[in-house]
Amino acid sequence: MIDCLAHSYLTAKIQNIFDQTNQYYQDMSWNQFTITIEILPQVQIPISRELPNLNEVDQKTREIITSSGKVQGVDYDGVVTVYWKPVNGDMANGGGWGSVNGYSQWMTYYASSGLSYAVTRHEVGHSKYLYHL
Ligand SMILES: [Zn+2]
Repeated sequence: MIDCLAHSYLTAKIQNIFDQTNQYYQDMSWNQFTITIEILPQVQIPISRELPNLNEVDQKTREIITSSGKVQGVDYDGVVTVYWKPVNGDMANGGGWGSVNGYSQWMTYYASSGLSYAVTRHEVGHSKYLYHL
């Protein structure tokens, strides 16, 4: 029961950040650019947050999505992995990561504050062809 409540709480916070991000991109594009998201159920992956490798986490994310029956290019265009802040490694300082015109986006979830709206907006921009601004 607690897991369900925690999941609902996290889902609402993540949805809120992406709603804000969607509004931002709609406003700056005269409603030409819209983001729609589906938040999949939270799962625990067998990769420690001590020193996670971004490629391994991305690969595991793809496996989870594929096993749910979803097909890239048909059911979705890109993937965002929301991950607890790692202890060491590339993402230990938090934030996010997205490649320009890339398929994958990483977002660090902070226990105290959730996702960063500014970082989410920034990384979505990378995934949609934009370089650092
Ligand atoms: Zn950037």
